[in-house]
Formats: sequence, structure tokens, C-alpha cells
Amino acid sequence: MRILVKEILNKESQEVELAGFVNSRRDHGKIIFIDLKDRSGIAQVVFTPQIGDFYKLAENLRQGWVIKIRGLVKLRPKGMENPELLTGKYEIEAKSLEIVSRAEALPIEVDTDGYGINEEIRMKYRYLDLRRNRLTRNLKARAKVFKFIRDFLTERDFIEVETPILTKSTPEGARDYLAPSRLQPGKFYALPQSPQQYKQLLMVAGLERYFQLSRCFRDEDTRGDRQPEFTQLDIEMSFVSQEEILNLIEEMFIELVKKFYPEKTITQIPFPRLTYQETMEKCKSDKPDLRKNSKNPNELAFIFIYDFPMFEWREEEKRFDAVHHPFTRPKIEDIKEMKKNPSKILAHQYDFILNGNEIGGGSLRSYKPEVLEAVFKIMGHSKEQIKNKFGHLLEAFSFGVPDHGGIALGLDRIIMVLQNEPSIREVIAFPKTGDGRDLMMQAPTKVELEQLKELHLKVIDEKEKGLV
Ligand code: ASP
Repeated sequence: MRILVKEILNKESQEVELAGFVNSRRDHGKIIFIDLKDRSGIAQVVFTPQIGDFYKLAENLRQGWVIKIRGLVKLRPKGMENPELLTGKYEIEAKSLEIVSRAEALPIEVDTDGYGINEEIRMKYRYLDLRRNRLTRNLKARAKVFKFIRDFLTERDFIEVETPILTKSTPEGARDYLAPSRLQPGKFYALPQSPQQYKQLLMVAGLERYFQLSRCFRDEDTRGDRQPEFTQLDIEMSFVSQEEILNLIEEMFIELVKKFYPEKTITQIPFPRLTYQETMEKCKSDKPDLRKNSKNPNELAFIFIYDFPMFEWREEEKRFDAVHHPFTRPKIEDIKEMKKNPSKILAHQYDFILNGNEIGGGSLRSYKPEVLEAVFKIMGHSKEQIKNKFGHLLEAFSFGVPDHGGIALGLDRIIMVLQNEPSIREVIAFPKTGDGRDLMMQAPTKVELEQLKELHLKVIDEKEKGLV
């Protein structure tokens, strides 16, 4: 039975079966040394001419080949130990070899950290790129953090709920990705920019405590370190105060760091809580980096910022927009007052900052239909538009709705910081380029005319576009 490389540690003098990739090969005289890599680590396998045909087969081995071997676990000769490897005291004296598959010369090195390799080539061969230890480590860390979050919230009586990907537009300040409907000609689903409205509807449903590790889709122009799809920890609670939401997040992160990143220190506990105005006055930024030493990768400065303005003026569109999103509860509920001077109104809104990165945000929500309607009006929506776009939510609120609020955290960015990575692409298994291409799958692609017809669509080329 095949065992893992790391399991040879207590198998001295026993014969074992291992399987994995040839990570590297070195020859010393007639002896062939292979570093065999599986999901648990690397072990040195030694092939000597005594094993006849198997030795001849081993002479062909190249990096990237997949093999299975049987061999004897032995202590390495004195002075030959490799303290960098978990299995570095041992080696396997090969008795037999089976080649599972051969590999062409790999287009990228996979036994380095990979930072120096052109990123487009890394993305094209992502399945090879992911073989490198650094990326495997990032994926493992990500999975552990996700499990921790699931357990932490489930223990506190939260229910994990999946919400639809094919849905209706919900405003978060970006363009929607659309999916055409075949069965409803001329109509489109929007992919969720966030599950915002669903999670609020789950409060109407009486769930009280919801969370989801949800995929969100935002069609934005290339802007820094962003991805068209990303993963949020999305939370919503009923009968809750801002204080309780922030405390929950604070407790979760203190525990998470203690458990998985004990080498890291948190600059300040409790996490500083500053108003937007204070932050702008003191730090001239709404996402300040409050680390004592920003060169220290093991320092984590978490901050909550609250009391953001509710509205901001959009000069190009000559209208007010919500700073967070329109579902946020203004700090005054007197509608006449609100309409008088929208730019002066503050909101029950908060952001969560880590080392100068915005890693989350949320708000208490307007649960009174008349307040929500007033906000939409200030944003320039007509009665008709409000009904078309948000009628379902207003109707839902007419059937009894708890006061509620929530938050969403950008998990890719959080894991990036925790893993000391320079970009979120390093912690996402299959990331896209800044302009939204998947270089490995070659998406997006053109589709057959037939498929377009079925979807009742016609592609307008750039020239025609000018005429529309
Ligand atoms: N839906 C919001 C966002 O994606 C978060 C929230 O208000 O809970 O930023």
C-alpha cells in the first residue's frame, strides 16, 4: 500500500511504497538520486546498478515524471543528512520502479519560489505553477482559514446558506456580469456583485444569523490588485448593533491569528475604532496603515473605521450615490431632514482595515421601507425604477422585518496579508489577468453563431458599435 513521504519517519528498515513527482535528479558516479515529491513533502530515493532493469529505467527519469517506487527506508550516511527536509535524515534505497507518466521539459521552474518568473507564463501553466511549494502552502493555508471561519461561526449559531449565482443586479458600485437567458428571450441574469439582498431577505425569513463564503463578481476596469471574481466572507445578523458585529469580527481574527499565525503580533488589541472624520483628519486616508514598523511582515494592524458619510456627489452623473450601498441605514431617519442636505448625513457604516488594505465593510440596514425609498430617491431613482429594481425587497419588508446588519470580508486579500504575499493572485488557485483573461483555459472566448442564436443574441463589432 502506498504511504506518504512524511510517513517514512517511523519506518526505518522497512520496505515502503511511495508515489509522486520527480522533483529533481542528481547523478553521483553510477548512483542516481531522485527527490520524490508528494503532497506531504520530499524524500530522497537512491537507485543503484544492483537493481538491474529498474536501474536502467531510472536512468531515463526527468523532472516532472510521475513514478511509483518500492524501497527500503534507511538512515542516510553520516554527514549526508539534509536538515532542510523533514525526511532529511533518511533515504529510500529503491528496489523497484514504475513509471506512471512521462513529462515534457517543464516550461517553468517549479522548485523555486517563482517570483522571478513572468506571471503570464505562470498563469498559462497554472497547474504546474501550483506544484511549487509556496503556492501549495498558500492553498493549504486558505483551506485551513476557511474551515476555521466555518467552525467559528457555526459554533456561534450561524447558518451557512448558499445564494444564487444567476440572479438580478444588486448595486455595489461596479458593472454587472450578465448571463443571457435562453428560455426568456432578451432577458438577462446578473451575476451577484455580492449576496447583499439575499442575505437581507434571509433576515426577513427569520434566520437571524447567516454566513456564506461567497463568490462575488464585479466587472471593473483594470485597477490594481483586483479580480473579476473573488471570495467574500458574507455575514448578516438580526437584532444586532454595530458594536456586536465588530466584536464578533475582532474575536474571530484574534483567535485565527493565535491559532495559525502565532509568529505574528497584532499591533493593538482591542482593534482601534476610529470615526471616518477622525481618520481622515489624523491619517489623511480612509485606509491607514497603523503598523509600528511597516517593514515587519509579522505585524498586523487591524482597524475599524465607522460613521462614514451616507452619500457622495457624483459630478459626472450630477446625482448623489451611496458611499457603501443604498441598503445602508442613514444615521437620521427623519426623511425631510435627510433630503435637505444629503451630503451631511452620516451612515451606520464601517470598514475593516488591515495594514493599509481595506479588507471588509458593512453596515446596519434600512429596514423601514420609507427610509429605503427616500435613499433611492436621493440617489435619483424614479418611483418606477425603484419598483422595478427593488420592489421585491420593499415588498418583503412589508411582511415584518427584524432590524438587521452585517459585514463582508475580502478573504483573498486577508489570506494574501497573512501569507505575506504581494498579490491576491498568489492565493487564488486559478486567478485571471488584470484585464480579466484566464490564460490557462483561454477564457473568455468567441462562441458559435448557433449558440448566440439560441440565446437570442447578436454580437456587434467595434465598427457597428460606433453607430449604435
Ligand atoms: N455587500 C457589502 C459588500 O459587498 C457588504 C455588506 O454591506 O455586508 O461590500
